[in-house]
Amino acid sequence: MQLSFDPEIEEFRAEFVAFLAEHMPDAAAAAADRPISSAEVPPWAREWQRVQFDHGWLLPGNPPEFGGRNAGILQQYVHLEELSRRRIYHSFNPQGLGIIAASLLSFGTEEQKIRWARRILRAEITAALGMSEPGAGSDLAGLRTRAVREGEEFVVNGQKVWTSGAHDADVLLTFVRTDPDAPKHKGISVLLIPTDTPGVTRRPFASICGPHDLDFNEVFFEDVRVPAANLLGPLHGGWGVANGSLGHERTLLWLSFADRLQELLEDFTPHTALDKDRYATLAMDNQALRLLGSAALAREARGEQDVAALSVLKLLGSEAVQSAAEQALYARESDGLIHPAMTAPFNPLNNDNFVASWFERYTRSFAGTIAGGTSEIQRNIVAERVLGLPR
Ligand SMILES: Cc1cc2nc3c(=O)[nH]c(=O)nc-3n(C[C@H](O)[C@H](O)[C@H](O)COP(=O)(O)OP(=O)(O)OC[C@H]3O[C@@H](n4cnc5c(N)ncnc54)[C@H](O)[C@@H]3O)c2cc1C
Repeated sequence: MQLSFDPEIEEFRAEFVAFLAEHMPDAAAAAADRPISSAEVPPWAREWQRVQFDHGWLLPGNPPEFGGRNAGILQQYVHLEELSRRRIYHSFNPQGLGIIAASLLSFGTEEQKIRWARRILRAEITAALGMSEPGAGSDLAGLRTRAVREGEEFVVNGQKVWTSGAHDADVLLTFVRTDPDAPKHKGISVLLIPTDTPGVTRRPFASICGPHDLDFNEVFFEDVRVPAANLLGPLHGGWGVANGSLGHERTLLWLSFADRLQELLEDFTPHTALDKDRYATLAMDNQALRLLGSAALAREARGEQDVAALSVLKLLGSEAVQSAAEQALYARESDGLIHPAMTAPFNPLNNDNFVASWFERYTRSFAGTIAGGTSEIQRNIVAERVLGLPR
């Protein structure tokens, strides 16, 4: 296995490193004005995202008019590697960038791409993802929020939950049932709903990480009138959009887990013999994840699709991060519970999430084993599609 990159990929990396050296934001401004949810982007961070967009470094795989340079998967990988090496966030609206703008570019009309995707990518507006509902999470196709067509509008009624950053977002990518009589996967559509539309109520609520962590929202829709032009993708074709949307999130997802694991290894110092033994296991998990991920990357670069293998990576990565955070928490004993406490040096260009107490880092690791498909769901996929076991 070749684990180094060809010279043209290294040239691409060098060009990005030179861009970072020249354009990184002022650390003092970043330190003073911290983001408070996954759709609240402070002015300096909006400017930073815009600079990356303008130079084609925001999402290098995108075409230039959408903040990229038509880069291939290996180039996208080294781009992320350089960001992570410096613990830099390129956007503080991750769902907007990684899922919503990406879905718009795949399924949107030209007008929708300009009106919504480009503004999200340039950090002029932020977006949140309205998929999950009470009773429709893993089984997304069971969603019940209804949209009824009336002339040139849809009228939406229902409720979403876990909508990260909704209270700070300008627009919600909302999955709704448009055909209640069709089989449940076939009657779903996707609407872009501006959050200032009358009838939209957003209620943020705290997470297990602490009362300060107000990112989750319940979102209620009461006779919300949405222009038909805000339909994304085909009417009743929302299931395809959902699979595409989460697919965007998945391709290099394993790398973010590997980075989290790497950070944990850097931030956690083992002292006792038992801690050192556990630490060695984490180092091996990190290595295994990176080797398996590199093999998946090489397959993707050759144009081979292996979606089930991505489930193996998500499962291994998210659970390894969780186990690492748990071990670090145990090793620090009661000190690990001190809140707020810093477990890593403050980095102005990163989210504060990963410089929190060990307790918070551990509880936050559940985001990885739940969001984007729980570990149990990944195990079902691995059982059926990788191991060929019966349902
Ligand atoms: C940090 C975070 C951010 C999130 N952000 C968003 C967001 O921005 N927008 C959004 O729409 N949603 C968001 N979610 C919601 C997320 O998508 C759901 O939590 C997830 O899909 C699981 O759904 P659920 O919570 O309804 O659990 P359920 O689906 O009710 O599952 C409960 C338990 O049953 C298990 N289970 C369910 N079905 C099966 C099965 N078939 N076989 C075996 N076990 C099963 C699950 O694994 C889980 O342990 C977020 C979640 C988290 C943790």
